[in-house]
Amino acid sequence: MRIERVEPINLRYEYPNASGFQYAGGICTARLTTLILIHTDTGHVGVGSVYSHPALVYLIVRDQLDPLLRGEDPNRVESLWEKMYGVTRWYGRKGVTMSAIGGVDTALWDLKGQSEGKPVWKLLGGTEGVCPAYASGLLWNEIDALAEEAIGHIDAGFKRVKMRLARSEEWDREAVTAVRKAIGPEHDVIVDASMRYNVALARRMGEFLEDMRVFWYEEPFPPEDIDSFVALRGAVGIPVSAGENEFGFQGFRELIRAKAVNIVQPDSSRCGGISEVVKVAQLAGANGLRVATHTWSDAVAVTANAHVVSAISNGITVEIDRTGTPFVEDLLVDPLEVSNGQLTLGDRPGLGIQLDMDVVERLRMANPLKIPDGSYSDMMFGKAYEPPSLPYVEIDA
Ligand SMILES: [Mg+2]
Repeated sequence: MRIERVEPINLRYEYPNASGFQYAGGICTARLTTLILIHTDTGHVGVGSVYSHPALVYLIVRDQLDPLLRGEDPNRVESLWEKMYGVTRWYGRKGVTMSAIGGVDTALWDLKGQSEGKPVWKLLGGTEGVCPAYASGLLWNEIDALAEEAIGHIDAGFKRVKMRLARSEEWDREAVTAVRKAIGPEHDVIVDASMRYNVALARRMGEFLEDMRVFWYEEPFPPEDIDSFVALRGAVGIPVSAGENEFGFQGFRELIRAKAVNIVQPDSSRCGGISEVVKVAQLAGANGLRVATHTWSDAVAVTANAHVVSAISNGITVEIDRTGTPFVEDLLVDPLEVSNGQLTLGDRPGLGIQLDMDVVERLRMANPLKIPDGSYSDMMFGKAYEPPSLPYVEIDA
């Protein structure tokens, strides 16, 4: 089998009337992701995904990675990863380049599984085609509406839910109390503080979150602020997590070496692909840490991360975006299936998914090099809705 070409397909879904959700990052006006399709001379197609700035992903794949990989044997996953990393090292290593390499890497794993007739979880040493999954949503909203939404996730077959905090200390406490009460003691609540706390506040909130029996306490500080994570970890009685904004094995090595977190959260569509998540998970395991992959934008990313979590001994769960995006709900011919808190991966070769190409074409960006003003991550915040510099009001401040 030989690679014929690597195709980036940028997708964009715009919420009607900028009516997306609101959280500490701003008001989300559109969703973005980039699919990576590797076409081969045997007709097999591997699929991966990347979330980063769409124009930059497009350029890196079209002008650097595609020409580099044409004619190569896709089964040589590790050496092709090294080749991509080596040629981009001068401008890559973190950020969009690592994310783009990761999208290609995941598509290579999909092809490897297809050519060997095995699901990726089996290639990685897993024993069963299922993965624990949790419902991710619960953004800034009215407290009653949050409680109702949380119950909806439980009714849909989830056992854990994740909510977003960092609005004000009063709101954060009320929101967690309401969700905890709504889902009852037999289910787990996870909180994400979206990088907006300081150490004193994070410790104070940590005591409260421990009382609420929060399952983990995610990203209270920005990814660069490792010292604050170190100051928090161990000072609170619940696991502290981070990693969705870290890239590559080397980045996670620093996080782990500093003893910054209890749970690491790599994401195959951002940190460097399935290969890199596996390496990060092994390092985490050697340091007694667990892994709960981050995922946000699309069903390919959910599936890729789930194959790894399912196969590793220190994997906890995979995240499923439940905000109602077509990238999660409509992109696959057979939609994601969760029951009893478990995502089904099955026994189909590779990632075991098939894209609905009508949906892909409907969401395809006409020209990824010509995009509206705004800020771009795995979401888009239109220019008028960029992250606000609202003061965070603390109760005891
Ligand atoms: Mg997060």
